Amino acid sequence: MHNAYNAKAYSAASATSPLAADSILRRNPTERDVQIEILFCGVCHSDLHQVRNEWSEAMPTVYPCVPGHEIVGRVTKVGSDVDKYKPGDLVAVGCMVDSDHTCPRCQENLEQFCPNVTFTYNSPDGHLGGVTYGGYSDSIVVDERFVLRVPTNLDPAGVAPLLCAGITTYSPMRHWGVTKGKKVGVVGLGGLGHMGVIFAHALGAHVVVFSTSPGKTEDALRLGADEVVISRKADEMQKQAGSFDFILDTVSADHDINAYLNLLGRDGNITLVGAPQKPLAVSAFSLLVNRRSLAGSLIGGIAETQEMLDFCGTHNITADVEIIPIQKINEAYERLLKSDVKYRFCIDMASLKSE
Ligand code: NAP
Ligand code: ZN
Repeated sequence: MHNAYNAKAYSAASATSPLAADSILRRNPTERDVQIEILFCGVCHSDLHQVRNEWSEAMPTVYPCVPGHEIVGRVTKVGSDVDKYKPGDLVAVGCMVDSDHTCPRCQENLEQFCPNVTFTYNSPDGHLGGVTYGGYSDSIVVDERFVLRVPTNLDPAGVAPLLCAGITTYSPMRHWGVTKGKKVGVVGLGGLGHMGVIFAHALGAHVVVFSTSPGKTEDALRLGADEVVISRKADEMQKQAGSFDFILDTVSADHDINAYLNLLGRDGNITLVGAPQKPLAVSAFSLLVNRRSLAGSLIGGIAETQEMLDFCGTHNITADVEIIPIQKINEAYERLLKSDVKYRFCIDMASLKSE
């Protein structure tokens, strides 16, 4: 194809295949496009859900699947109409690469809810056909309106996870008014959870982490938690009953949501960002008492993502990353399933050069 070039990537061929080296097509940059050499890509639990087709009802996976939506890289080429970026700039791409720009949601800067949003992977690709391919690759080509600027004082590997784990936790906290004087819970100390703790603390809240992993207590306190509750201990949970303004639930697997609803005070809200495969059972009484509410949240719009990155620049916030070569990706997925990550795997894409 004359309008495309070959890029290196790691893809899964089916729901049961491991990720392996592959060659994919990327479009040559059009007038409004930015071509990026990918330096780092964070590993989100959503990558694992999608690769294994665990969301088959909501968004079935098209194979081959190249995941990755926490991208940091260097601009290598720009189209003639691009004025925001130039070759050499350090930039980032998150979970979306396009939208229709005209619908009410786009006009409200909530492109993630645009009916025609193009996600970074496994979305219909309007340029080349097929589906979009994500950041487990050596390069990507993205419309400049979906490219973010990276604060230059931050470590690029630690920035990558901000593009999904960061915005996904920042956005609902801003929406639900997390601020000084509020008591905020974060359930699950993984990629999203650890960013949630950092942001809730930076926003001035009293932060309580709920974890199934006793070994994460010290890290939780270092990240900014004021208290850590081991959620398997009923007496520790009971002590927190009815006391929270807001709880962010980041758990990736089946769990009892009522145990957390019962911790909310009057008009308290729990927002789900975790996306387990199985539906959660909600007891009506857990909601009726204290006029509680249960909500959800999906990443954040582009303007808010830039705001979050700038907030991180000002407050010197990055994710805690374990840098891995791409050859360790299948092992990293197995470790994610065991909650064994501190606190985000981040692929050093230089490792792809040897494939
Ligand atoms: P992760 O790094 O694997 O962290 C998930 C954490 O949940 C684990 O570290 C563990 O924390 C806890 N957990 C895991 N299994 C559990 C179980 N059976 N019971 C109780 N707790 C359990 O995953 P992530 O990347 O943060 O993603 C979390 C979820 O958010 C995934 O479902 C992902 O798809 C979803 N997500 C949603 C959005 C969005 O826009 N809404 C964006 C990104 C990701 P402890 O060890 O502390 O218990
Ligand atoms: Zn993600």
